[in-house]
Parts: sequence; structure tokens; C-alpha cells
Amino acid sequence: MPKKLLVLGAGPMGLAAAYAAVKRGYEVDVLEAGDRPGGMAAHFDFDGLSIERFYHFCALSDTHTVALLQELGMPDAMKWVATKMGFYFDGRLYPWGDPISLLTFSKLGPIGKLRYGLQAFMSTKKKDWRELDKINAEQWYVAWLGQRTYERLWKPLMHFKFYELAKHVSAAWVWQRIKRIGNSRKSLFEERLGYIEGGSETLMNALAQAIIARGGRIHYKTSAEKIEVKDGAVAAVRTAGGLRIEAEKVISTIPTPYVPGILPDEYGELKERYARIRNVAVVCLIWKLKRQVSKNFWVNISDARFQIPGIIEISNLRPMKDTIVYVPYYMPQTHPKFGAPDDLFIEESWACLKAINPELNEDDRLCVKVSRLRHAQPVYEPEFMKILPPVQTPIAGLQIADTAFYYPEDRGVSESIRFAQLMVEDLGPP
Ligand SMILES: Cc1cc2nc3c(=O)[nH]c(=O)nc-3n(C[C@H](O)[C@H](O)[C@H](O)COP(=O)(O)OP(=O)(O)OC[C@H]3O[C@@H](n4cnc5c(N)ncnc54)[C@H](O)[C@@H]3O)c2cc1C
Repeated sequence: MPKKLLVLGAGPMGLAAAYAAVKRGYEVDVLEAGDRPGGMAAHFDFDGLSIERFYHFCALSDTHTVALLQELGMPDAMKWVATKMGFYFDGRLYPWGDPISLLTFSKLGPIGKLRYGLQAFMSTKKKDWRELDKINAEQWYVAWLGQRTYERLWKPLMHFKFYELAKHVSAAWVWQRIKRIGNSRKSLFEERLGYIEGGSETLMNALAQAIIARGGRIHYKTSAEKIEVKDGAVAAVRTAGGLRIEAEKVISTIPTPYVPGILPDEYGELKERYARIRNVAVVCLIWKLKRQVSKNFWVNISDARFQIPGIIEISNLRPMKDTIVYVPYYMPQTHPKFGAPDDLFIEESWACLKAINPELNEDDRLCVKVSRLRHAQPVYEPEFMKILPPVQTPIAGLQIADTAFYYPEDRGVSESIRFAQLMVEDLGPP
């Protein structure tokens, strides 16, 4: 009899783990609280268009996503596109993200431009991140750019993502993000980003089907409620619906803020370690419009009128009939604005889109949807590895991870896939 593996969560990490495990010969059951696969990358029906609730794009470094698409028989599903970036700065939209844009950016003097360009270039070459792990992002930016340039360019972006937690963000994480995008280029002058044909659900559905085709089972609307431990080893998982499923191995990929709730009471110290990992929330708007906002895929925003770090015009990456643009508002869950009514976000983001493109008018508004997620982005603190509990828990047979665990890489589908494969390698023979 093969060993039984229970995977908690059917996001990219859970699905990739389940798929790797059925291939190894494990008997696999996946428990997923939601009604579909994909987790943060899941789709929804946006007025007749199937699209991710939260914006998703790929970078050239997303090799694990590309390899999995190939393995699942979809070698051509990844589409690479020459994309543009902009910076809406104090009421004006500037081109951004390549050497010419930097040279023509009138808000920085020649020394500021040189320092900025050097930091961006050196970030793409850097490999050893140990010293960046010890300092926060602000210290790193200020050391490269000077206080004034940091305050004008990056402070608003950091602030409107992390608010009072901004000073707790590691430089290594920011560097890794700059590196990922900085290296996703065909040349110094051409950025290349990718999308999966049909969106992330193409991969998520294919993974789910491949799991089932190899005898695995995915139970949607089935929340894991408690892990049972016997003699120091995992024994079973109880679900919110009253099921008890026995297993020799469990891989949990649910967001770590939920982990203390599913661990047995006697593991108090371990629970505290997961509770220590902080996340910020997101209120993410998706707009459908008749008219383009701009030609850019991504526009950073630094403008005192808007508490928005940037917008993502996904239809400038993935071709679609209408303009589709995401407006994310990140913030700590404790921020009073997190509970504000949808209309506040709708009207504020509309004002922002109109400021970027003054030609937009009421007639261009087709549809808008507001989504909220409590745990959208881990706050990767300096020396974050010291905070993280080990993936293999002190409970034999139980591995636990989420997007925080591949620090200093940012949360990403490809990284979750890579990490899932590593966890399955560590399972031992079935
Ligand atoms: C706003 C936003 C933008 C993003 N943009 C990008 C991008 O452009 N490119 C990119 O690569 N990545 C992006 N990501 C990140 C990407 O979505 C994540 O890295 C990826 O989804 C992580 O997968 P995961 O399986 O590790 O976690 P999740 O996707 O969080 O999956 C966890 C799953 O566990 C389930 N669950 C929770 N509790 C329980 C329970 N008790 N029992 C059973 N199931 C449970 C959840 O319903 C969920 O399906 C973005 C994320 C957000 C929020």
C-alpha cells in the first residue's frame, strides 16, 4: 500500500505538491477551503471574462512555471510580450524602466540619475544577498540614492504598501524584486513579461486534472480544521465539515496566519512562531474600461492625492477586448481603511485613473469589482530566516510552508511550484 499524503490548500503550491507526489506514487488527497483551484491566483467571472481576482504576470526567471506547462502538454501556453512601464509622478506620467526614460526624467538631477541607474544595474548582477538581509529597505535605498531621492521616489511606494511596517521590510526582499523585473528583458531597452494563455487558471486547471488523472482527489469547500498527532507523528486531519482523514504525511500550504489554529493545543511554542510572521492585506480593484489608461503594463504612482502605489493594466500584457486594469491598495489588516466601503475605493481609484488619463470619462466605465484578502503579502523582515520555523516541523510527517518560506524571493507562482517540488522530494519513498 502506498503511503497516504494529505495536502492542505489547492493554490499553486498545494497543487504542485500534490502533482509531484502522485507522480512519485503517493496516494494523495487535497483539502481546499475554496470552491476552485488556484488560491491567490484563482480566477473569477468578471462580467463574462474569466480572469484572476488579483493581477498575475510572469517574468523570464519563472522557469518552474514554464517547465510545468511543458510537462503538462502546453509548451506554447506561455506568451512573452514587450511591455512598458510608467511613473506617474506629481501629476505627470513619465516613461520608466529603461536607460532612456531615466535620462529624460526631469525630476532627478544628473547625480541622482547616475546613482539610481547604478543601483538598478548592480541589483541585476548581484548574487550574494547576505549583507542585504541585515538591513531594511530604506537603509539600502538611502545608501544608494540619498535621502532626498528616496523620499521622492520610493518612500511613497513603500509607505502605501506597508504603512507603519515599512521600516520592517528587508533590503534583500526589495533587491530580489528589482532583480526579477530588471532581468526580465530582451535587451537593456526592452522589458519582457509573460502571461499564460487563458490566464493562470489554464495551469491551475491542468494541474488539478493531472492530479485526478493519476488517482489523486481534490476536495473543494473542505477546510482543514485540526491536525491530529499521535506519538509525535501526524496521524489525521479533521475538517470543518466533520470528516476525519488519516494520513502518514501532511503538507500544509495554507497561509501561515491560519496555521496556529489547525495545530494541536500542546504545540503552543510552535504556534507562536507562525503567529510571528506578519502579512499585509490587499483591497484590489479590477476595472473594465472602454478606453486605455496608458500604453504601460505597470505605472508606479507617487502623487500626494492618491494612496495607491501603482496600477497594472493587464490588457497591455494579455490581449483582451476591453481595457482591464487592477488598482491594488495594500495595507496592514489593522488599518481603518481596510474596512472602508467599496465605493470609497471605487471613486478614489477612478479619480486616479482619470488623473493618469484625463481623456477618460464616465462613459468609459464598464464594470468594477473590489476584492479583499487579509493575508496578501508577507512582511519579510531583516534576518527573516531566523523568524521562519523549519519547513519540516517537530511533528514527524508534517511539513508546513507558504509564500513566506522562499524568502528573499517574493511571493510568486513559479516560486511556490519550486518550493512544493522540494517539499515532495523531502517526503521520502511512498
Ligand atoms: C495581489 C496579488 C498579486 C500577485 N501577483 C502575482 C504575479 O504577478 N505573479 C506571480 O507569480 N504571483 C503573484 N502573486 C502571488 C501568487 O498568487 C502566490 O505566490 C501564489 O498563489 C501562492 O500559492 P500558494 O499555493 O503558496 O498559496 P495560496 O495561493 O495562498 O493558496 C493557499 C490555499 O489554501 C487554501 N486554504 C486556506 N485555509 C485553508 C484551510 N484551513 N483548509 C484548506 N485550505 C485552505 C486557500 O483557499 C488557498 O486556495 C500575487 C498575489 C497577490 C495577492
